[in-house]
Amino acid sequence: MVAADGAGLLGLPFDETAARLAAAGIRPVHTAACWRVLYRDAPVAELPARLRTLFEAAGPSQLADPPIAARTDSRDGATTKYLLRLDDGQQIETVIMGYPGRFTACVSTQVGCAMGCVFCATGQMGFVRNLSAADIVAQVRFVARQLAARGERLRNVVLMGMGEPLHNYDAVMQALAVVSDPHGFGISPTRITVNTVGLVPGILRMAAERRPYSLGVSLHGSTEAERAALVPVSRRWPLADVLDACRAYCAETGRRIFFAWTLIDGVNDSPAHASRLAAQLVGIDAHVNLIELNPTPGYAGRGASRPAAETFRRVIQDAGIPCTIRQRRGVDVAAGCGQLRAERQPPARTAQAMR
Ligand code: SF4
Repeated sequence: MVAADGAGLLGLPFDETAARLAAAGIRPVHTAACWRVLYRDAPVAELPARLRTLFEAAGPSQLADPPIAARTDSRDGATTKYLLRLDDGQQIETVIMGYPGRFTACVSTQVGCAMGCVFCATGQMGFVRNLSAADIVAQVRFVARQLAARGERLRNVVLMGMGEPLHNYDAVMQALAVVSDPHGFGISPTRITVNTVGLVPGILRMAAERRPYSLGVSLHGSTEAERAALVPVSRRWPLADVLDACRAYCAETGRRIFFAWTLIDGVNDSPAHASRLAAQLVGIDAHVNLIELNPTPGYAGRGASRPAAETFRRVIQDAGIPCTIRQRRGVDVAAGCGQLRAERQPPARTAQAMR
């Protein structure tokens, strides 16, 4: 693990970096130079000798990317999925998704996931451990470097890889403070999306703390029973509570919420499902993203047909709610979260899904 504790500098917010330097007898005026080395690949040689010594003591993972255990490219060239190896041997997925004129890093926040969504390869493997802020920032830096090598720039980050971000709240918020800081990557907070499957306390905490990031909420079901069958954690935080939290979030922040809905053939893809979803979203500033199911070996369901997806979208739009069908980003590279790791590293279930 690339830990942001001990002597580590990677993943520390700017003011904490300054404090770390001060504790080592280095003047805080050097903090900006330290961040240029950490996040903009400035040469270490530019740093004062004492700061160079601090980097050496912190170890090579402060500056080196996690090793690539596997890589797959989609046939259309738009999506590249990496399996990155952490110091403890665990592997996590990080994806570069290319869209016209922009690139997005899809990063992981946990090894495995405790939420147990039945159609998700990460959910099927169970929870292994949280990532540290440094582990999360290291993925963003990895993608920024990969894109820089192609002459491109990273502009968007979405926390939709392995894990439930709000189940690892503190590390995630620390990492995002670094990712959005103009001293480092300087990615606009509005271009950073935290996607949750509906952890009510986390949604309310983001609102109360006025976190400036975009919020995505995955629903997948428009009744309690429907959702519970796909998202076991909804037994703990029912749909009604999730939607109440979303209303509170909108009222507190004035921001739109992006709702994700994985379309599964014959399960949740009918016009009736769409009508119920639209009715549930009354009073919420909502945008609905429809996602075709990525097939996984552990779930028998199939993705909805294109006509069914189009009809679903029309029903949502006719209710006055913006709705898009998200392109499946590189189904041929096992692009659903957890699929590449499930293929390459055997499951290591160490905790039960939250129910
Ligand atoms: Fe976890 Fe997200 Fe997969 Fe659900 S869909 S099991 S929240 S990683």
